[in-house]
Amino acid sequence: SPELARAEHLIREIPGYPQPGILFRDITPLLADGQAFGATVAALIEPFAGEFDVIAGVEARGFLLASAAAIAAGTGVVPVRKAGKLPQPAAAIDYALEYGTATIEMHADLEAGTRVLLIDDVLATGGTVAAALELLERLGYPVCGTAVLFEIDGLGGRERIGHHPLHTVFGS
Ligand code: 5GP
Repeated sequence: SPELARAEHLIREIPGYPQPGILFRDITPLLADGQAFGATVAALIEPFAGEFDVIAGVEARGFLLASAAAIAAGTGVVPVRKAGKLPQPAAAIDYALEYGTATIEMHADLEAGTRVLLIDDVLATGGTVAAALELLERLGYPVCGTAVLFEIDGLGGRERIGHHPLHTVFGS
């Protein structure tokens, strides 16, 4: 759609951030534009309509998208957080980053069988999304799929998350 084409155009490329050699895609101009943000959020959830009861968002940019998507879908939102931020983490997963490791945690307050849609901003190596999927699986929540704005090609993200359905708003 023209709205989505315009939204994609608002993603800004920043060379050398957060370190030399990286081309960072900055989505903040898209988020700041009401029409672009609205069209993007609608497109994030559209393929999974009727398949989820709650949306899980990954800290921190995933929170912005997941919260808006939850309101659009009429569901609640659940935060997947970096270690040490939640008062009652029910499970934690360590995963590899490009340099070093990270840990994400979740509460387990959802009713058994609650169907989850996972949202993050970008799929790069897929490490973050794969870890969040494993966390949800470990807690026993069925996941209908993952929605991101776009994937960065050539980093193996799609392969990393295996059989789990993946929807990207921009690009394939
Ligand atoms: P992963 O390698 O685990 O797939 O990505 C790690 C995290 O880095 C993701 O949560 C994603 O938000 C972020 N990320 C990696 N590259 C970019 C980028 O170019 N732009 C944005 N906005 N986020 C990125």
